[in-house]
Amino acid sequence: MPSPEPEAALVVDLGAVVSNYRLIGDAQGGVPAAAVVKDDAYGLGATAVATALSAAGCETFVVARPEEGAVLRTQIAAPRIIVLNGPRQQDLALFREHRLLPVLNSLDQIALWRTEAGKAGGPSPAALHVDTGMNRLGLAESEVQRLEDAPDLVNGIVFDLVISHLACADDPGNPMNEAQRARFDAVLARLAPTIGRPARSLANSSGIFLGPAFHYDLTRPGVALYGVNPLPGQPNPMRQPVSIRAEVLQVRDVDAGTTVGYGAAHRVAGPRQIATIPVGYANGLWRALGGRLEAKVAGLRVPVVGRISMDLTTIDVTEVPPGQVRPGTVVELVGDVTPVDRIAEMAGTIGYEVLTSLGHRLPRRYIETGA
Ligand SMILES: *Cc1c(COP(=O)(O)O)cnc(C)c1O
Repeated sequence: MPSPEPEAALVVDLGAVVSNYRLIGDAQGGVPAAAVVKDDAYGLGATAVATALSAAGCETFVVARPEEGAVLRTQIAAPRIIVLNGPRQQDLALFREHRLLPVLNSLDQIALWRTEAGKAGGPSPAALHVDTGMNRLGLAESEVQRLEDAPDLVNGIVFDLVISHLACADDPGNPMNEAQRARFDAVLARLAPTIGRPARSLANSSGIFLGPAFHYDLTRPGVALYGVNPLPGQPNPMRQPVSIRAEVLQVRDVDAGTTVGYGAAHRVAGPRQIATIPVGYANGLWRALGGRLEAKVAGLRVPVVGRISMDLTTIDVTEVPPGQVRPGTVVELVGDVTPVDRIAEMAGTIGYEVLTSLGHRLPRRYIETGA
């Protein structure tokens, strides 16, 4: 009988995402969290994730580009959608139509948003980004100075929020964290006569775990919601919402001394049983993981062997009791069997890249276990 499910899918447990959101809420005792769902919620699917978090009480969502915000606005009743990259001239209509809150990252964006405020005929809300050490987005020192000297540059704009972003939050001992926090406070004090005292936001996932001094009025967790450890080097408090499930295509017995896969890279010493599953590097399962990953089948951990092909991967199921692995048997990769962080370590990257790599290349299937 044909399976109703795809042969290989990214399974996203929305219950685990909600549970991670609640754990973060507990860690910051009453301070609200804005869920960062940029890049399609790091590959997990922004609409599904935001819908689940919205039902769990999340009132602010953060995206990178206005197009993402526009889609979200039509799909969930979120009171507030923040757009990190801010507006360009050609985006203004999108911001207006979908009531998106732009982050203004430069004096140019402030000037652009003022023209929008002029057209709207009333004050236009925005968020302001001040740089405290990333040198990526946000007002530079010279621009802060300019605003102090010429407060009318923001006429017509009401600032609902001021943000900055930490460069080293995943390294709690790094003096950069405290330096950025002090600089944030100093800039807020200097700008108060110009922009008033809007709500303040500094912490990403790891920043939240630096302690209450970093929480301010709103935090912006992203990756921890999706299972990446915000506390590198310590036990991961987050649940793993992402796994890959793939159905076995074929099982074969291989003779002692023969090899499996490209490059004849895996030679078996004794007779082994090999199962082939339909997921490979074209689905974001990097070739560099070949020979290092583990899979779970019939409740047992088994090694991934040989090279990962474009659409296929081979696993050694010899240790699984006879008859328990057949075409159609479900194999699990990634997640509880091998956490996203562990995969990142194997591939020399970070969990963020594992998630975005997998999430965009496999069909997604949503489940919801107890939050
Ligand atoms: C991506 C991003 C976040 C979320 O960071 P995580 O490390 O994923 O929690 C927060 N704030 C800004 C400005 C970002 O760009």
